[in-house]
Amino acid sequence: MLEIKNLHVQLEEEDKQILKGVDLTVEPGTVHAIMGPNGSGKSTLSYVLAGRDGYEVTEGTATLDGESLLDMEPEERAAAGLFLAFQYPVEIPGVGNMTFLRTAVNAQRKARGEEELSAADFLKLVRERAKALKIDADMLKRPVNVGFSGGEKKRNEILQMAMLEPKMCILDETDSGLDVDAMKLVSDGVNALRDAGRGFLVITHYQRLLDHIKPDVVHIMAKGRIIKTGGPELALEVETNGYADILNEVA
Ligand code: ADP
Ligand code: MG
Ligand code: MG
Repeated sequence: MLEIKNLHVQLEEEDKQILKGVDLTVEPGTVHAIMGPNGSGKSTLSYVLAGRDGYEVTEGTATLDGESLLDMEPEERAAAGLFLAFQYPVEIPGVGNMTFLRTAVNAQRKARGEEELSAADFLKLVRERAKALKIDADMLKRPVNVGFSGGEKKRNEILQMAMLEPKMCILDETDSGLDVDAMKLVSDGVNALRDAGRGFLVITHYQRLLDHIKPDVVHIMAKGRIIKTGGPELALEVETNGYADILNEVA
């Protein structure tokens, strides 16, 4: 499903290389976690996959179900089934959350050749999924993320994901800034979406999240590369010993 090969990325503005040969394959039905020290390129990887401006791919490929993501516009990537929950969700003043969700869902359906949801069906669906994330009616009416707390923004990202039902979900530090209860809500939201046809890439600093969202594979990223891959025990090792041992071992 998601296949990244030898991905090299540098900043467009300055001659700074950030990703230095990332290889990663996420099969349908699996959850891959990426951990790693600050500044290792985790967010950059998720941005490049989603199509954010400012980065230049100098080498390598990234495909979703065999189609090159790097040749697509961001909205085409979304239509192809890619979703990114941001580390820092953006506020969109003037655009109601509900309107935003409905527009996104219908654009997605259109891209898949499906009919738009009726207003009534959409409302039923959004209320049901919002309720599971403890997002109240007021939050659905307000402009997207404007004045939302950190935890509310992250839950709203998961609501977008739940509404869009993407094939490949990337979560960039969705757990950071969450209290224990919000982390449980977010994890439950993710777990509810786990199925045989869907893949997840969960970027996190903390083993804590991985207690709730049990990963199949854990990768450690450092200095623009994946330096070690293992099972869930690798996250526990990091939690106990930090990254120093792994970095030394690889060096
Ligand atoms: P992580 O998410 O693993 O903490 P990032 O992908 O955010 O790492 O950043 C990787 C490195 O690239 C850092 O050194 C960061 O400062 C740098 N970087 C990323 N984007 C930019 C940018 N737009 N301008 C300057 N430096 C950047
Ligand atoms: Mg960071
Ligand atoms: Mg980051």
